[in-house]
Amino acid sequence: MARIVMKFGGTSVADLDRIRNVATRVKREVEAGHEVAVVVSAMSGVTNQLVKWCTELSPLHDAREYDTVVATGEQVTTGLLAIALQTIGVDARSWQGWQVPIRTDGAHGKARVEEIEGARLIERMSGGQVPVIAGFQGIGPRERITTLGRGGSDLSAVAVAAAVRADRCDIYTDVDGIYTTDPRIVPRARKLAAVAYEEMLELASVGAKVLQTRSVELAMKQKVRVQVLSSFEDKPGSLVVDEDEIVEQPLVTGVAYSRDEAKVTLRRVPDKPGIAATVFGPLADANVNVDMIVQNLGSDGTTDMTFTVGKAEVPRAREVLEKSRAEIGYSEVVADPEVTKISIVGIGMRSHAGVAATMFKTLAEKGINIQVISTSEIKTSVLVGAEYTELAVRALHTAYGLDAPA
Ligand code: ADP
Ligand code: ASP
Ligand code: MG
Repeated sequence: MARIVMKFGGTSVADLDRIRNVATRVKREVEAGHEVAVVVSAMSGVTNQLVKWCTELSPLHDAREYDTVVATGEQVTTGLLAIALQTIGVDARSWQGWQVPIRTDGAHGKARVEEIEGARLIERMSGGQVPVIAGFQGIGPRERITTLGRGGSDLSAVAVAAAVRADRCDIYTDVDGIYTTDPRIVPRARKLAAVAYEEMLELASVGAKVLQTRSVELAMKQKVRVQVLSSFEDKPGSLVVDEDEIVEQPLVTGVAYSRDEAKVTLRRVPDKPGIAATVFGPLADANVNVDMIVQNLGSDGTTDMTFTVGKAEVPRAREVLEKSRAEIGYSEVVADPEVTKISIVGIGMRSHAGVAATMFKTLAEKGINIQVISTSEIKTSVLVGAEYTELAVRALHTAYGLDAPA
């Protein structure tokens, strides 16, 4: 007998038939004698609609009210799945984030999980009941509903798995595992039997949204065994494991892309000490995450400063920059949303030179201009025009020998 957390994403619970399918899968594990807790996302498309409503009313909406709105999607799914389970004879009960409780900090819209009390869940599970827990939701320091950032149900699942000391955390989704790149863009992507935590962490952080970044971070820290598998087919999935469990180590393990960032340029910033702090300090204080940064050298004592922020954060970034306009002393702010960040990730990059050079050469051969570059130990990212996304990902996938045999 094992204790398992099963997480089902939006497409897996998109309609009643799919919810029935999920119920059948849960029942199978229960009948095999396992203790099961389930974590669910909102039905496919629901969170996007809820976010859109908030943004349409006000681009700079109150983050606490945003959370109140977007957390509702998951509530619906917990109730529906609990009913579907009860209908086929499985004892089940829905749990909202506040009922567990899943305690978070107060960073509304992207709250961090601070603590989950596992005792009550364990008690129900060992009594044979299946808790159906709302993913994405938490409760903040002032007893207000929080959410964990887009894709946050993965984090809920891993956090619950750690709290109930589960043997496994199975992430059921609409692909049957973790691939060398998004299989929807590159049909010749290969399924990886196992991926190291660190690589998955980098891949997720640069856009491979098959797992949310923080969920991988937590799994790595708490040693939760995560498996990604299909909710529609019975096929072996992909495991996220320790580095030393990986037998074959290629230079580059995967290619990822993110369309979620926008390029922001501050024109004619005075080129003097302290300027970066004046620009990025207030952005950080306003919870705006800045990713890639370049500063171009000017000739007249001014410089252009370019960086990327999440597309959804552009209005807030503009507001913050507007407020510190006098202090920074720039001439204008230009935001360009038509960009994609493409990244290559691999532990093999640590010990091999020239991996990034292959990337630059491959893109040059396709006539793709690189706007910004950033690197870390096991990753290189470039910012390119959005229209080159597919071309760039496919070319790099081939260049690093990742294509599946035809
Ligand atoms: P869910 O709603 O189940 O959480 P997501 O849409 O968040 O599902 O994540 C699954 C999607 O991640 C897949 O449909 C796929 O398009 C995308 N994806 C991106 N990169 C990868 C990758 N390297 N391997 C597998 N899927 C990937
Ligand atoms: N429903 C939330 C979202 O779409 C959380 C999740 O699906 O993981 O971002
Ligand atoms: Mg997801």
